[in-house]
Amino acid sequence: MSSIAFIGLGHMGGPMALNLAKAGHQVAVYDRDAAVLARVAKQGCRPASGVADAVKTAGAVITMLPAGRHVAEVYLGAGGVLGGAQPGALLIDCSTIDVATARLVGAQAQAKGFAMLDAPVSGGVAGAAAATLTFMVGGEAGAFERGKPILAAMGKTVVHAGGAGTGQAAKICNNLILGISMIGVAEAFVLAEQLGLEAGKLFEVASKSSGQCWALTSYCPVPGPVPASPANRDYQPGFTAQMMLKDLRLAAEAGASGRVASPLGAQAAQVYQLMENAGMGSTDFSGVIKLLRAKV
Ligand code: NAD
Repeated sequence: MSSIAFIGLGHMGGPMALNLAKAGHQVAVYDRDAAVLARVAKQGCRPASGVADAVKTAGAVITMLPAGRHVAEVYLGAGGVLGGAQPGALLIDCSTIDVATARLVGAQAQAKGFAMLDAPVSGGVAGAAAATLTFMVGGEAGAFERGKPILAAMGKTVVHAGGAGTGQAAKICNNLILGISMIGVAEAFVLAEQLGLEAGKLFEVASKSSGQCWALTSYCPVPGPVPASPANRDYQPGFTAQMMLKDLRLAAEAGASGRVASPLGAQAAQVYQLMENAGMGSTDFSGVIKLLRAKV
């Protein structure tokens, strides 16, 4: 059992913190949204009055925040993690953020004597609740070994991706594949409709052919073939179009800084931007099929 501070208790962080408590850890929690903090605290975690209060006795600190600027603020800002954590505490950021901020915060943590991991997740809100997340982890091997049992209480797959920032790199590369492939699958279903080919038949063929991919067989954008996919509940997320857009922008930024061409990633970002502009930013990203049918 360890003493853990958990900061950022939203859709993902709330259930993740509760899974740590269920696994027997002592968890101090903090979120700047008082209602969110109260909801998680009610279920067996100690509510802290701020970041410094949450981290002051913790052996490990976990953060699950929206974007790089929030992570920089929580770690580097006044009253932040680096100023208040115990010497030797292990710091783990599970947010999806840009590689540059992940490396900057990691380097500053290291300069202050802390080991830090970037450990973004895949698996969504359902995976967070069921403790079945996949963690892709960047950081030194020794820190990874220390962090692994803690992460294992919140997920079922924990992969060491390499040095600092490679967890974030793995996450944005994965979502680059997913963002592009979902549009391809959706285009195929719209074309099938136009050609009089039943969706179930396209699924039957493509899922056993070279068109097979996760976007088709685990997250099919039409209702029916995959009962658990958001298409069956009018594209309630799941994983919102806005979040996909954020991740594709992170991939584009990283690509631009290394002069990497990603023409389909850029196109895909434009398509999810159109979804957002059409008022569909909070719907599941697989709802892109509605945009393609032009029946939003
Ligand atoms: P969310 O907006 O629901 O939760 C973020 C929480 O952080 C909020 O409760 C907010 O109040 C809190 N917060 C922000 N700044 C803070 C600060 N300075 N101090 C304390 N608390 C602060 O977001 P989410 O859906 O839980 O996503 C969190 C991260 O996980 C994001 O980086 C996202 O990209 C990533 N992610 C989300 C999903 C998903 O399906 N939702 C899947 C994989 C990864």
